[in-house]
Amino acid sequence: MQDASFDSVLSEWLPGNEVALRLISRVVSSGRISNAYLFKGPKGSPKDAVAKRFASILLCDSPSEEGRSCGACKSCRLVTSGNHPDLYLVEKEGASIKIKKSHEILREALLRPYQSPRKVFLILDADTLTIEASNALLKILEEPPAYVTFLLTTSNPGAIPDTILSRCQVVPVKALSPSALRQLLVDRGVDPREASQVADVSGGNLERAMRMLREEGKASRGADLLQEILASSPVEAAQKYSKLDLSRRVDFVDDLEIELVRRLRSPEGPSESYLQALKVVLKAKERLSRNVNAFLTFTVLFLDISRALKGRTVT
Ligand SMILES: [Zn+2]
Repeated sequence: MQDASFDSVLSEWLPGNEVALRLISRVVSSGRISNAYLFKGPKGSPKDAVAKRFASILLCDSPSEEGRSCGACKSCRLVTSGNHPDLYLVEKEGASIKIKKSHEILREALLRPYQSPRKVFLILDADTLTIEASNALLKILEEPPAYVTFLLTTSNPGAIPDTILSRCQVVPVKALSPSALRQLLVDRGVDPREASQVADVSGGNLERAMRMLREEGKASRGADLLQEILASSPVEAAQKYSKLDLSRRVDFVDDLEIELVRRLRSPEGPSESYLQALKVVLKAKERLSRNVNAFLTFTVLFLDISRALKGRTVT
């Protein structure tokens, strides 16, 4: 999940997502609330923040017609502090959301709300629901109690079964533009020059930007990874890293990308070999997003990186 403080800032300010916000405000002003919504956007986009904003409006005592919660009522205060009894947050444990969680949801949905007229289930990374967990939810997504609304988020809609998709209204969420991300970071006290660099390299991906800022000053994880790859056999390294779950695999490739971009920008200057290595990393990333076999993808990636960087000292 995203950094909590950023989440609350974002839920107030969602540049580039006017379409999603208009949709939300239409739902609020018409009062026609569907059973389930799916907020889908690329990894690092503020999809969780948009969904949370919708949840806070659904629970607010007097939301405005422009699609904002009042921010002052008891419900709003409880949502902000993460203690609203009618906002039920579901997150993956380890790599997936298991059937035990679905059973909890089914039990909880039968109980009427305590504080607000509605009860909201917010299921983050809904693509990680196991098949059994998804199947257990089909009936309640179709016909929930009148006071229940489901909000699901995902950056991998292709992995959500059609049976779930067909029961949800889909709300597309866009990634932040680098300039919006830069502004957000500056507003949060990040040095403007650093904010520009991070916003640029992270391509508007908030999770990545946060990781880069956290790792600022520390030895970069990507540097260690590069060193490890060059020191081991491509097949052995591929065996090791293809065992990671999908989101860790993507993080792993992200770390390599960040490190290579950093090297390309370093005073040492752009170098053909780093550029070549970056290209193969981007290709691997694209393959992973299409669910190409991870072991093969990593074997090819590590072979190509070794080839590209052969003869370069990696420090
Ligand atoms: Zn309120």
